[in-house]
Amino acid sequence: MDNRLKAKVISLFNEPACAKNVAKGKKERRKGCGKPLTPGATAGGCAFDGSKIVLQPITDVIHIVHGPLACEGNGWDNRQSASSGSTLYRNGITTDLTQMDIIMGTGEKRLYKAIRNAAERFNPPAIFVYVTCVPALIGDDVEAVCKHAAQKLNIPVIPVNSPGFIGTKNLGNKLAGETLFDHVIGTMEPEQSSDTDINIIGEYNLSGELWQIKPLFDQLGIRVHSCITGDARYRDVASAHRSRVNMMVCSAALINLARKMEEKWRIPFFEGSFYGIEETSRSLRKIAELLVKGGAAADLIDRTEALIEAEEKRCWERLEPYRQRLQGKRVFLYTGGVKSWSIVSALQQTGIEIVGTSVRKSTETDKEKIKKLMGSDAHMIEKIPPRDIYNRLKAGEADIMLSGGRTQFIALKAKIPWVDINQERHKAYAGYSGILALVQDIDCALSNPVWQEVRQPAPWEEGWEAPEIDDLFDDDHLFNERAS
Ligand code: SF4
Repeated sequence: MDNRLKAKVISLFNEPACAKNVAKGKKERRKGCGKPLTPGATAGGCAFDGSKIVLQPITDVIHIVHGPLACEGNGWDNRQSASSGSTLYRNGITTDLTQMDIIMGTGEKRLYKAIRNAAERFNPPAIFVYVTCVPALIGDDVEAVCKHAAQKLNIPVIPVNSPGFIGTKNLGNKLAGETLFDHVIGTMEPEQSSDTDINIIGEYNLSGELWQIKPLFDQLGIRVHSCITGDARYRDVASAHRSRVNMMVCSAALINLARKMEEKWRIPFFEGSFYGIEETSRSLRKIAELLVKGGAAADLIDRTEALIEAEEKRCWERLEPYRQRLQGKRVFLYTGGVKSWSIVSALQQTGIEIVGTSVRKSTETDKEKIKKLMGSDAHMIEKIPPRDIYNRLKAGEADIMLSGGRTQFIALKAKIPWVDINQERHKAYAGYSGILALVQDIDCALSNPVWQEVRQPAPWEEGWEAPEIDDLFDDDHLFNERAS
């Protein structure tokens, strides 16, 4: 790891805005936030993957992965981060380094060629270049190539120095934030700006969740100047320093960016969520309050309250039939981070009982929020092997599991319904309309008749005798089987 990157990583392990980090001793802090891996367990995404997740939703730029083909194949477009315009970001472009490049030292040349080709072919407003393990280990000077290409081609070429081996996906998220702070934000001025402009940080517009909340802001005359990054445009991110408020949706990922923007451009930030009625209303209130404090017209607060009242009323009316059906249903929640409490809050409001929520990737603040929501008997699960989840589900502790795609098979094996709530999902669950969609999906999964079917004993388990082998070739037998 080169010295500059080393210094950057050490500085990220020293985050004054993160309570968990501040509470650690000096020695503990130097180890970072990643937990040592259990041999045999999957490692999750690498730091490169983490950076790509954050930056790829800048939709009108080209993202070039400098490394072997598999690095790009590993993470390309595996989340449903949607765009309302340009689709340039969905091109998977890599320098495809091979052994020959390593032996001959041609990686830098290959990278420059790739940048030039992309600039000529797509004419993007900027190009992001991701450093992966191989070029970092062989010492390709990616920053120098980017600088040279930017001068020659006259467009911003931004190095993302976050090779996989330096750490976890979360560290990569933070390094992406550093990249934006060092190379992008503050480099352009917005075409228009107002005292009600905001940025949303850590919202990736998965399956279009940003579009569920944007109409609320439109009604209030609040402009989401830049979403960092979901359905984002380069110019908007580059001029995000002119916004008046930063709302941080996922604090664990980009708290360093929000804190630095506050220090440099005096943009106040807060952490909020758009999952659930209460959280959505709370976030809208907080944004209005901070905007008015920053100089927006005072009537914004009253208009926000009126909108919240109308939206909540409409939402509760639409939820009522489901509330009656789902009252007392028990959910096992296996997710992490901000979702570990925001989904709890959203579900509790609909009368659903949470029998357990995992807090593997949750911060201390997330855990505090869960305790506040669920009371002293909060069933927080730090670490649970798949076998134990299966045993709990099989024993009938929950009626449904909400988790990511990787754990769906545990629920399916235990023959209980499952709904995807992780980043790969195809449904959007944000804002007032999102909670309705989530509750509808839970209701659909619970009332699907297939569960009754699969819970019946299989024919060979009970009261069924295998036909004699000769019978199987008997025409009458076959005819009778088909007819029945
Ligand atoms: S760990 Fe390194 S080699 Fe593997 S995907 Fe990440 S950047 Fe590529």
